[in-house]
Amino acid sequence: MSTFSLAESFVSINGEGQFAGKLALFLRFTGCNLRCSWCDTMWANAKDAPHTLCSTQHLLDTAKRAKEDHGICHVTLTGGEPLLQEGLPELCDGLDSLGLMTEIETNGAVPLAPFLEKCSSSPCITMDYKLPASGMEDRMCLENFPLLREKDTLKFVCATQEDLDRAAQIISKYKPVCAVFLSPVFGSIEPADMVEFMKKNRLGRARLQLQLHKLIWSPDKRGV
Ligand code: SF4
Repeated sequence: MSTFSLAESFVSINGEGQFAGKLALFLRFTGCNLRCSWCDTMWANAKDAPHTLCSTQHLLDTAKRAKEDHGICHVTLTGGEPLLQEGLPELCDGLDSLGLMTEIETNGAVPLAPFLEKCSSSPCITMDYKLPASGMEDRMCLENFPLLREKDTLKFVCATQEDLDRAAQIISKYKPVCAVFLSPVFGSIEPADMVEFMKKNRLGRARLQLQLHKLIWSPDKRGV
């Protein structure tokens, strides 16, 4: 059995991606290999971030309880960067055997192939591509693009016009078969301008998405 460094767990709605609005159990792990300029969970990335060490079984019991108490059928593994947790394939397979769909929110800077090879189940991947304003674009693992399947999601969080231009270039170059979302950095770029950009650049396959939890609760509120 593996051990995980858990920052927090809670049941709420998915704030973004293909499953936005759907109830989920969130398991947020500590630690990240990036430092994005606009990160809103930096508190979970510090070396001394408050955390609990949990076994796979403990997390599976948490998921079982969330299913019984709240009827969730979805578990979102997030961070930080969840793929840095060594036991993640074992956890995904355990959640699958409980009849739960697993979604992994990954930052695009960890190779997906070794993780997918170790999984017997088939969790959904929601992968970010970090654009120039994040300061992390040179860390992206471009070899991940062909591994994204129809059921997966590619997400671009945009803060500037340069970010939008770059997102359009990446979409045109890699032609992802998965769902594609453009999302504004809260307070940095006008969603209406993003819609105009999508129209001008013929981005008919992409979807604009506003983070639901920032509209429902205060943008800084944790555990929702
Ligand atoms: S990858 Fe995510 S958690 Fe890590 S620094 Fe960037 S925004 Fe924050």
